[in-house]
Amino acid sequence: MSYQFQVTKVNETSLPKVDFNNIPFGKTFSDHMFVADYINGEWTNLEIKPIELIPTHPGNMAWHYGQAIFEGMKATRDAEGHALLFRPELHAKRLNNSAKRMSMPEVPEELFLQALHTLVDMEKAWIPPQTGSALYIRPFMYATDATIGVKASDTYKFIIFVMPVGPYYTNPVKLLAQDTYVRAVVGGVGEAKTAGNYAASLLPATMARKEGYDQVMWLDGVHKKFIQEVGTMNIFFVVGDEIITPNLDGAILDGITRKCMIELFKDKGYKVTERPITIDEIVEASKNGSLVEIFGTGTAAVVAPVSHLKYKDEIIELDMAKRNISKWAYDTINGIRNRTIEDKFGWIVEA
Ligand SMILES: *Cc1c(COP(=O)(O)O)cnc(C)c1O
Repeated sequence: MSYQFQVTKVNETSLPKVDFNNIPFGKTFSDHMFVADYINGEWTNLEIKPIELIPTHPGNMAWHYGQAIFEGMKATRDAEGHALLFRPELHAKRLNNSAKRMSMPEVPEELFLQALHTLVDMEKAWIPPQTGSALYIRPFMYATDATIGVKASDTYKFIIFVMPVGPYYTNPVKLLAQDTYVRAVVGGVGEAKTAGNYAASLLPATMARKEGYDQVMWLDGVHKKFIQEVGTMNIFFVVGDEIITPNLDGAILDGITRKCMIELFKDKGYKVTERPITIDEIVEASKNGSLVEIFGTGTAAVVAPVSHLKYKDEIIELDMAKRNISKWAYDTINGIRNRTIEDKFGWIVEA
């Protein structure tokens, strides 16, 4: 099935105002967006139009009860200028998993993919050609009933908008393991990409920054000792010759970059293990010299090497000269995304 979109174009593109060598992250938007309304049990008013404000009623349910979910993905380009998407079907599936958990309607995968392809193809001049740069894509959905009273909304908007971004982290990151506040618990909404998870992370993140740390590393909500993830990244440790990452326990976000990393590492012949990891075990590995690397993975940062990890009074400092595995992973994913490295897994789709 193919959906019909109404398309309205801008009179004049704002692209000439953008300097691809200096893009402030998340503040520069392309010309157009995709918008759809969920009314009477179906997706309707499918439209691509100039990006603009969307008026809402003060009783809009998303503002009060938090039905709001999103995805984050990237389009890149190859040397011939083709716009490339990275595993878009996994993002469609994850959006729908988030939707289910938040009692929101699913977006048919074909609608998601057609909207994505059409919009990215239209905006492909906005994809920066520089390595590590990309067109960041933000599909999201929120409740739109104007009703006060806790229940699931009957109406929703699904929107996709895009923005050119430069490389995300240029420097290695410093992490602070948080042992007071928690991000998520098993049975909660940690596995959903839902707005409230990020609101809850802001206070601890500000506290970490005051102490000189870039991001919070979350521990589990019950024992406060099992490592979960970081800000908007999953986390990996290289201990001896093994790569370890926390197993998906229902509280950790099922990162697509994480999944790709595990596949890449296994293919390369590394020993990769998904299992519960305690913060004490990492402190111990640092003391006995077996901790080699720590890195975060996520669409925005791709791979972010960690230079410091603080937990209570312990500060672990990583030797940045030993960051071989995370460096290889970063170069490989980016190479696949720009087609300078063969895409033998079939992760790349032309928009
Ligand atoms: C999006 C996100 C990630 C990374 O997921 P990717 O699919 O790799 O981008 C990790 N943790 C959280 C909390 C996230 O929101």
